[in-house]
Parts: sequence; structure tokens; C-alpha cells
Amino acid sequence: MKEFLIAGNWKMYKTSAEAKAFAEELKAMNLPNADSMAVMAPFTQLETLVEAFKDTGIKVGAQNVHYEKEGAFTGEISVDMLKEIGVDYCVVGHSERRQYFGETDETVNKKLKALLAADITPILCVGETLKQREDGMPQIVIGAQLTSDLAGLSEEDVRKIVIAYEPIWAIGTGKTATPEQAEDMCGFIAGMIEGIYGEVCMDRMKVLYGGSMKPANAKDLLSQPSIKGGLIGGASLKPESFAEIAKAAYELSE
Ligand code: PEP
Repeated sequence: MKEFLIAGNWKMYKTSAEAKAFAEELKAMNLPNADSMAVMAPFTQLETLVEAFKDTGIKVGAQNVHYEKEGAFTGEISVDMLKEIGVDYCVVGHSERRQYFGETDETVNKKLKALLAADITPILCVGETLKQREDGMPQIVIGAQLTSDLAGLSEEDVRKIVIAYEPIWAIGTGKTATPEQAEDMCGFIAGMIEGIYGEVCMDRMKVLYGGSMKPANAKDLLSQPSIKGGLIGGASLKPESFAEIAKAAYELSE
């Protein structure tokens, strides 16, 4: 039986009032697999959501963190600050952060280490551009990203990480990878992890697919053997569509 993680990534959307309204609507649905759901929210909404989802099983995560414990880093947030709020997850290396905010494999690696030390589960995003895919090298790109991102981490560390395969050409574009393309790459990631860290490590990990997942395509994507959940942007902003995706996961896990 597959245990899914259905994680929403709100990006820079929703005020606290909107976040609260979303949480109330979602809670009222009483989803049977609420404990397999999580919302990655803007920093200012984290406290609101942790409180709103208390006792529901729905987890809360951040979308970024700084790797230093504290210091003169204006505008940044540390792992201890996240820990204090009570978040369970943090997205690392999202392509929007790599593209617009100078996130590199080196900073991703430092952030993973800082989060793991604080017992916050990282959701590590990797993905290739359209050009890299057309050039026939998605595996080379993802393999290189994972090698750098996970450098110096032990098997015990790696097994605590969630990896999200997010082809950059499918994020926020409405263009979804076909189930076969997504399975191909998620299977490649699982094979690579298993090859380096062993079967036990991979068995404990989740590889998610992200990139225009929505109610209409969720079942086909989530039924692929190597896909253990989704990182969902646009479709996680409405409780109904987020819940529809969670329902698809529930039906597949029954
Ligand atoms: C994302 O933000 O990680 C994402 C996959 O976005 P979307 O679902 O909107 O493509």
C-alpha cells in the first residue's frame, strides 16, 4: 500500500485572513487522509496555519530557510525560527528560488543540513529545463543536482528527505509531464538513491511529482509506481481542488 504526501505550495499567495478561511474550509471536509496532506505557506501565514490545523493531521511547511543558525542576514529566517512555530516541512531548491533568488546546489546542500539538524523534513526540488529535456539530458541534469545537493549527507540523513521531481517546463505553465515522463524521472531518482544509499533508505523516502498537477491528472500521475505524492502549486490554492487531489491519493491508497 502506498503512503502518499500531498503537499501544496502556496508560493506568494494568501494573506492571513485568506489562509484562515482556506483552513476552515479544508477542515470542514473531514478528509480521511488529512494526515497525508501538508501546506507550504508564506512565512507570515505559518503560525496561523499551525494553529488552524492543530489536531487535524494536516502539516505545515515553509518555502525557504537560511542555513546559518543566526546572524546579520537581513530578511532571512532561520531553522530555529521555523522550529519554534512548529512547522514540519520546508521546501528547498524550488526552481523559482534557483531562478530568481540565486539558490545554488551549494546553498541547497547547506539548507538540507541545517533543516535535518533541526528535525524539519526538507522537500528537495530538482528538475530540468525544456532545453535540457529536448537535448536529451534530463537524467544527467537531475543526477548532477542530486549529487551536489546531497553531498556529505549520510544514509540516515537522506532517508529523512522528500524529493520532488519538478520539471521546470511544467511548473505554473499548465503543461504537465505525461505520467510516463514523470514515472521515468521519478523512477530514475529512486534508482539513483537506491544505488547510492541502499534499498532500505529508498523504501523510507518519498519521491513526489510537481508541475501543473490538478484534479484532472492527479490519478494518472499518482498511480505511477515511483510517484509517492505531489507538490502542487496553483491547484493547492483552492480547498476544493486541493482536496480533490488528496481524494485521488486516498482512493489509490485504499
Ligand atoms: C510548484 O510550485 O511547485 C508547482 C508545481 O506549481 P504548479 O502546480 O502551479 O505547476
